[in-house]
Amino acid sequence: MKICKTIHNMHAACRALRHEGKRLGLVPTMGALHEGHLSLVRAANSQCDVVAVSIFVNPTQFGPNEDFSRYPRTFDRDRELLDKEGVDLIFAPSVEEMYPQGAITYVTVEGLSDKLCGKSRPGHFRGVTTVVSKLFHIIEPDVAFFGQKDAAQAAIIRRMVRDLNMPVEIVVCPIVREPDGLAMSSRNSYLDPQQRQSALVLHRSLMRIRELFGNGERSSAKLIATAKEILAGWPSVRLDYFEIVNPDTLESVDNVSHGALVALAAFVGSTRLIDNIPLNV
Ligand code: AMP
Repeated sequence: MKICKTIHNMHAACRALRHEGKRLGLVPTMGALHEGHLSLVRAANSQCDVVAVSIFVNPTQFGPNEDFSRYPRTFDRDRELLDKEGVDLIFAPSVEEMYPQGAITYVTVEGLSDKLCGKSRPGHFRGVTTVVSKLFHIIEPDVAFFGQKDAAQAAIIRRMVRDLNMPVEIVVCPIVREPDGLAMSSRNSYLDPQQRQSALVLHRSLMRIRELFGNGERSSAKLIATAKEILAGWPSVRLDYFEIVNPDTLESVDNVSHGALVALAAFVGSTRLIDNIPLNV
C-alpha cells in the first residue's frame, strides 16, 4: 500500500494506474475509520481494480465553533485497517497542501447546499463539494463511493457531478449500524455511556416513522409530529431538524410517497449526530 502526502505524488500514482487500464475507485474520508467506512472500501474493492482512500479532515467544511480541532485523528490505526482491506493507495495531504495560501475558489451546488444540514451549518456543503472536486481532479477516479449516512451530501455530490460533467460514477452505499441501531460515526467516540444510550432514540424515531408509513400514513406533518413526541421524551437529545424530503432535491414533501427520505440531526450533549432512512417499505 502506497501512502501519498503530496498532490503531485498522488496524481502521478493514479495516472500511472489508469494508463495501465486499471479501473480506479476512490473512497473519500476524514479518517477515524469504522465499519461504515470499511463497507465503502469493500464495495470499491469489489467493483474496481485499484482502490484509493483519502484521509483528510477538511477545514472548509467545519464552522468556526465546530469540532475541527478536536475531530479524532487516528492515522496509524486507519493505515493498518486499510492495509488489511487490500487498499492500494492512501492520500493523506496536509491542510497546507490542499489549501495553499490564497486559495479563493469554491464549488457550490446552489439551492441544495442550504438544505438539511446546510441550514444549521452554513458553508458546510460548500466545503464538502470543494474538497471532493479537488480530490476528483487529483485522483481522477472512475468511481467514487459515498455513504447513505450522509444522504444530503450524496445528493449534492450527485448533482455536482451531473451539472459540471465530471467523468466519475457515484456509488452510494447503505448505512452501517451498531447492533443496537446507532448509525456508525467517527463522532460516536465523543459520547459518554449515558449519551450513547440516549442516542438510540434517533434510530428508534426513524423506525417508528417507517412503521407508520408502512401502515399507510402519508401525512408528513403527522409523521414528523410523532417522531418529535418520541424525541421529546429524551431531554438530553436536542433536535436540530427532522424532515421528510425528496432524496434528490432535498425539498420537504407534504404527502409522503415511496422513496422519500426521512432525515434528522440532533445534539446529544454537545455532539451533533445525523441519521436517516429511505421510505421504501
Ligand atoms: P466521513 O469520514 O465521516 O467524512 O465519512 C466518509 C464517508 O463514509 C462518507 O461518504 C460517509 O457517508 C461514509 N460513512 C460514514 N459513516 C457511515 C456509516 N455508518 N455507514 C455507511 N457509510 C458511512
